Amino acid sequence: MEFVKFAFNPLQENTYVVWDESLECVVIDAGNASAKEDRMLAEFIAGKGLKPVLAVNTHGHFDHAMGVQFVKDTYAVPFALSSADKVLMEQGVAHAMMFGLDAPNMPSEVEVDLATTDVVRFGNTELKVIPSPGHTPGGVVLYHEPSGTLFTGDTLFKGSIGRTDLPGGDYTALMHSILNNIIPLGDEVKVCPGHGESSTIGQESLYNPFVTEALNGEVNYK
Ligand SMILES: [Zn+2]
Repeated sequence: MEFVKFAFNPLQENTYVVWDESLECVVIDAGNASAKEDRMLAEFIAGKGLKPVLAVNTHGHFDHAMGVQFVKDTYAVPFALSSADKVLMEQGVAHAMMFGLDAPNMPSEVEVDLATTDVVRFGNTELKVIPSPGHTPGGVVLYHEPSGTLFTGDTLFKGSIGRTDLPGGDYTALMHSILNNIIPLGDEVKVCPGHGESSTIGQESLYNPFVTEALNGEVNYK
């Protein structure tokens, strides 16, 4: 399994292209939002000779979905998102306006419901779909177990966690997701978040103030 990260749109959202030796790939959280960013993504895919088979999202926020329709239209692939986040697609234009941005091309159809999907497959590779509600109701993280790579969306960042003050956000649920579904995957697991730099679960267990206060029992989320 190999992947590349692009930081797209004014919110510098991390879009990941993930592929394997079969050259099939998935695009995680396509946030490309301009002709230039569309071209960057398409040229990378063409340059590697990759064949996209799925657009898949950790959650439904507009900054993670502004490029999904481009991926769907360009490669004729289905879109996977939790049905619990589908309403966020419809609210995307309004949410973008709150950030002073346009999101004219939000995807209207979701073909694969991640709320009822355990595994996303491409080529010879499986990504486990692990529920992580809290930042949004239908948030998931995507786990490639053989390489210990976790695509965490906006659930867990290097040094921080996703905001929970947006509609549908739930701080207690987010901490439960991190403590019960992410930390147990192990210290060596690489964290590839939806914004910013990568990290590891071990590093976040030691240095992420939101995680350490929970692990140290300073706040009881159990
Ligand atoms: Zn988000």
